[in-house]
Amino acid sequence: MDRSVLKELEKMLPKGLLLYDEPMSAHTSFRIGGPADAFVQAKEADEVKAVLSFGREKAIPVTVIGNGSNLLVSDKGVEGIVLSIKDGNTQVGVPVYEDGEKAVFQAFAGMSLSAFSKGAAKLGFIGTEPLAGIPGSIGGAVAMNAGAYGGEMKDVLKSVRVLDKELNEAVLSNGELELGYRSSRILKEGLIVLSAEFELKKGSAEEALERIAELNKKRKEKQPLELPSGGSTFKRPEGYFAGKLIEDAGLRGFRVGNAAVSEKHCGFVVNLGGASCAEVKELMEQVRERVFKNSGVVLEPELRMIGRK
Ligand SMILES: Cc1cc2nc3c(=O)[nH]c(=O)nc-3n(C[C@H](O)[C@H](O)[C@H](O)COP(=O)(O)OP(=O)(O)OC[C@H]3O[C@@H](n4cnc5c(N)ncnc54)[C@H](O)[C@@H]3O)c2cc1C
Repeated sequence: MDRSVLKELEKMLPKGLLLYDEPMSAHTSFRIGGPADAFVQAKEADEVKAVLSFGREKAIPVTVIGNGSNLLVSDKGVEGIVLSIKDGNTQVGVPVYEDGEKAVFQAFAGMSLSAFSKGAAKLGFIGTEPLAGIPGSIGGAVAMNAGAYGGEMKDVLKSVRVLDKELNEAVLSNGELELGYRSSRILKEGLIVLSAEFELKKGSAEEALERIAELNKKRKEKQPLELPSGGSTFKRPEGYFAGKLIEDAGLRGFRVGNAAVSEKHCGFVVNLGGASCAEVKELMEQVRERVFKNSGVVLEPELRMIGRK
């Protein structure tokens, strides 16, 4: 990668925003991934647009990520620019619309979904409680149509502001987003989420916060949150649970190097310390083969893979 071209982008951005050869293991919940040629963490829409238009103009690939909680990044790193849309804001803004029964809130794609859900609950607006334990950004959660405990993004999204490949801006309504099980038009068409509008009902702040605490407790009991992972490794096949199929194939604790099927929840692959992407991939391949042999069910990855082949 020609550094001199990237230097031009570095000069256009606030000082220190562009990092060279940044290890992606520092930006993924799996703690896995080689260096990105360049890494920019954008905290506002203008920075997102500046990086994307620069990449387009100079024909440099730009890979958009959020909080990196659903990613498996190559050990060889990522070519071009990794653009992380993520900010540390935890404040839910004033509603853009409110009547006595509901309100519409707008949030930047880089805000943490968990912070948004808790903030809205505190204000007495309900609907996002089941999503509050998902460790992603709002943009990533829209792209994945993230969901948990009977709720999904589709239930609470009103609309989303996006950029298409030509960097045209548009607002897509919930219906236009084609939100399905861990799928969306965002992923299919490579759209970029800049912000989202949530429509939430008025309710009891106390009850909503209690529900969040209860679900987070459940999550902590069931999921291996004490070890790095990318969340559920495989999608839930219709009529089955991936974790149960893996357990039934005798793979609880199964290891390849330092990557292992979690002892606590077989639906998770965990990094026991210094695991490589190659180890996780090999483990996933063996799990798929053995589950297929045992049950005839084909597991499809939920993790999104990025980086050099
Ligand atoms: C411990 C743990 C528990 C989890 N539990 C759940 C759960 O209960 N339910 C669930 O659904 N998921 C769960 N996940 C997975 C993950 O948190 C979600 O998929 C989350 O929505 C990913 O958001 P992110 O910001 O981390 O996205 P990333 O992992 O950074 O990216 C995921 C995908 O979204 C795209 N993307 C990210 N931001 C944008 C944007 N602004 N515009 C366009 N595309 C974008 C990326 O290109 C990539 O394809 C869990 C993960 C972990 C580690």
